[in-house]
Amino acid sequence: MPKRLVFRSATSRPATSGAWLSSRYVRIALGLIVAASVSLADTPAALATPTKKTTRVSARLTAAEVAKPLAQANPETSPSPVPPAIEPQEPATAAPDDATPVIELSVDATTLHRSLLTSEQTIPIKPGRRSLWFANWVPGVAGPTGQIANLARVVFSNEDDEPLRWSRDPTDLNRFWVTVPEGVDRLQVRLTYLANQPTQLSTGVDTFGTRQLLTLNFNTCLVYPDGCDVSQTAIHTRVRVPAGWGVGTAIKPISSDRQTGEIDLGRTSLKRLVDSPLIAGRYYRAVPLDREGFPPTVMHLVGDSHACTTVPQERVDQLTEIMPQAVRLFGSAPFDDYAFLVVCTDRLPRFGLEHGASSLNCVRAMALRDDSLYRHRPAYLLPHELVHAWCGKHRLPEKMSSTNFHEPLGTELLWVYEGLTQYLMQLVAVRSGQVSMGYHREYLAYQVSEQLQRTGREWRPLSDTAVSAPTLRGGPSNWADLRRGQDYYDEGALFWLNVDCLLREKSGGKASMDDFCKQFFAVDTDSPVATSYSLDDLVANLESLADHPWRGMIQRHVYLPQAELALDGVNRSGYELGWVRRKPTFVNNREEVLGSIQAIDSLGIVVSTAGVVERVVPESVADDSGLRERSEVVAVNRRAFSPSVLNQELDAAAKYRDGETIDLIVREGQWYSVHELSYSEGPRHAVLKRHDEGPDLLTEILRSPPSEAVSSEKTASMTAKSKSSRLRSRVTAAVSAQR
Ligand SMILES: [Zn+2]
Repeated sequence: MPKRLVFRSATSRPATSGAWLSSRYVRIALGLIVAASVSLADTPAALATPTKKTTRVSARLTAAEVAKPLAQANPETSPSPVPPAIEPQEPATAAPDDATPVIELSVDATTLHRSLLTSEQTIPIKPGRRSLWFANWVPGVAGPTGQIANLARVVFSNEDDEPLRWSRDPTDLNRFWVTVPEGVDRLQVRLTYLANQPTQLSTGVDTFGTRQLLTLNFNTCLVYPDGCDVSQTAIHTRVRVPAGWGVGTAIKPISSDRQTGEIDLGRTSLKRLVDSPLIAGRYYRAVPLDREGFPPTVMHLVGDSHACTTVPQERVDQLTEIMPQAVRLFGSAPFDDYAFLVVCTDRLPRFGLEHGASSLNCVRAMALRDDSLYRHRPAYLLPHELVHAWCGKHRLPEKMSSTNFHEPLGTELLWVYEGLTQYLMQLVAVRSGQVSMGYHREYLAYQVSEQLQRTGREWRPLSDTAVSAPTLRGGPSNWADLRRGQDYYDEGALFWLNVDCLLREKSGGKASMDDFCKQFFAVDTDSPVATSYSLDDLVANLESLADHPWRGMIQRHVYLPQAELALDGVNRSGYELGWVRRKPTFVNNREEVLGSIQAIDSLGIVVSTAGVVERVVPESVADDSGLRERSEVVAVNRRAFSPSVLNQELDAAAKYRDGETIDLIVREGQWYSVHELSYSEGPRHAVLKRHDEGPDLLTEILRSPPSEAVSSEKTASMTAKSKSSRLRSRVTAAVSAQR
C-alpha cells in the first residue's frame, strides 16, 4: 500500500540566478511572483484535499464495500465489455489560474527502488459516462509509448471513497470509462505504476528508480479527462521522494524540504508538468553553468555514487559553453532559464529526451569524468537535446502538434525535427568545444560510412523511415541495413549539411544555416508560444534566403528511394571520403565504450569483445560467407577468438595473396561452422580528406561565428520575418483541419 502522503505548507519561491534580464524575462518573473503569492494565499484550501485523501489511501476495501457502489452505479451484475457510445463531452476549459477547477496530484516516489510508483488524483468532473486517458503519445518519443502494461492498480472512487465502476475501452486500451453518479463532482483516482520495466519506445518518458536515484516522468502516474486541452488544464502537483535526496526539475517548486523529501511543485498546466521530468538522488549535485548575457543554466546531477556527480572544473568550464553557442546559433531563446537533468548511472538504460526548458539525459556512471565516455555520448547528446528546445519544442511539424497525449502524431517530418537537430547539434558541439574539429571530422566520416551500408535506401525513401519511426525506434536490429533504421537522424543530418553548403554557395556567402535558424526559429518575445510548421513553410524560408529549387531537391533526396547515399554535402563542404588502415580516434573511442570491434568497411562486421556477431553488412565479404548475426565467433584463422586476435589477423590480411581468406569458426548453439572471408586489404576505416576543389567550408561551418551575428537589430528583423512565416503556418494548419 502507498505510504501516507503529508505535505507541508508552501514557502517562498527560490530566486532565479544569473544575469539574463531581457524585458520578457522581467515580465515573466514578475508574473511568477504574482502567481506564487496567489498560491500562498490558496495554500490552506489547496492542501485540505490531499490531507483528507491521506486517510483513505491506507483504507483496505472489503468485498462488500466494492460491490455496493458497483451495484448502485449499474444494476447489471456483470460488467459489459462493450462501452457505451461515446457521448459528446464538454471539453474542460480549466486554465492554469485560480478561477478554474484544478486537478490535484500527489505522487509517492519513495518506493521506486522496488519499482513501485503510487499516486492519487482528484479530478473535477461532471456526472455521467466519462472517459479518462493514460498518456500514450507523449511528446518527444514520436510513437505510442505503450507503458499501459505497467499499470498495476487503478481505482476510481467518489469523494467518499466509494469505488466507481470502470471498464477499459476495447478499441484503445489507454482509455478508461467511468460512470460518475449524480451529485459527484470530483473523481478520485489511485494508480500504482510498475517502474524499471520500459517498453521498446518508452525509456525517455518512463520512470526508473534505484537505491541511489530516480527519474520520474509524470505521464506514468496520472490520467486526464477526455476532451481537455492539456495546455489549458491546470494541475497542482506534490511529490515525495526519499528523505534527504536532492531534486532537479525545470519547474521551480513553491516549497521543497530535503529533510522530509516533500516537494510542492505548485500549479502548472498539464502539458508543462508532463514536459518537466523530475530527477532525485542521494548524491545530488547542482552545477551552475551561467554565462553573463545568456539564460541562467543549471546542470542537476544524480548518480550511482558521490564520484559520479563530482565534475572536474575543466568539464564544468566546457559545459558552460554549450548554452551561449546554442543561443548564438538561434539568436534568441524560447525559455527563461534551462536545466540539464543528467543521470549518471550504469544501472538504467541510456537515453536522452528533449523538453521545453530542460532535457533528461541518462548517461554512464562516469560519463562526465572520463574523456572517452564524455566524447562518445554527452558531448553530442547534451547539445542535441538543447537544440530541440528550438527545433521540436518551440517550433514543430504541424502533424506533431496535439492538444492531448493520446491521438497519434504524424511523424513524416522527423527528417527535420530530428535530422536538422542532429546537424545543428554538431555545430553546437564543436563550436562550444565539447569535441575538437579533428575528432568531429572522424565522427562525420564514421556516420557517412555507416549510412553507406544502408542498402535499404534502394526500396525505402528517407521519408519512410520518418513515417515508420514508431516501428524503427528501439526495434530489433537484425539486418538493420536492409530494413533501414532511424536514418532520419544521421542521413537527415547529411542532407542538412548539403543545405547549409548550398545556402552559402547560392547566396554568394551571404546566408547560411545560422541565418535559417535565426529566421525559422525566432522567438517572438511578445508571444513566446510554440508554433507548428509545414513543408511549405520550410521551403518558403529556404527560398527567402537563397534562390534554389529547394522543393525539388527535398523531393529527390528525401521522398524517393536512392540507388546510393548522396555525398553532395560532404563534397560541397570541401571533403571527400577516403579510407585508411590506422584506426581513427573516434573508432577507437567507440570500440572502447561499446565493447566491440568495428570492421564494417573491411570484413563487413561488428563483433562484440565477447565474439558475438552484432552486425553483418549486406553485400560484404561476411555476408558472402553466409555469416549470421547473433552467432558467436570462437576462432579466427584457427586461433581462439579475442579482440586482439581478430585485429592481428585483419592486419596480416594486408599481405594476403589473391585467394587467401580469413577463416572464422562460428558457433550457433551446439553447431559449429567455418566461414571463409575472401579479403586481402587489411584494416579499412573511413576518413574525410580535403579535395582541391573549393574552400574548406566544413571548417568554416564548424567555427564559432563572430558574436555580432546575434545583434539585437538582426534578431528583431529575423523575428519580424518569422512572424509572417508563422502566420502562414497557422493558415496552413487551419486549412488542413478543414479538409
Ligand atoms: Zn532528438
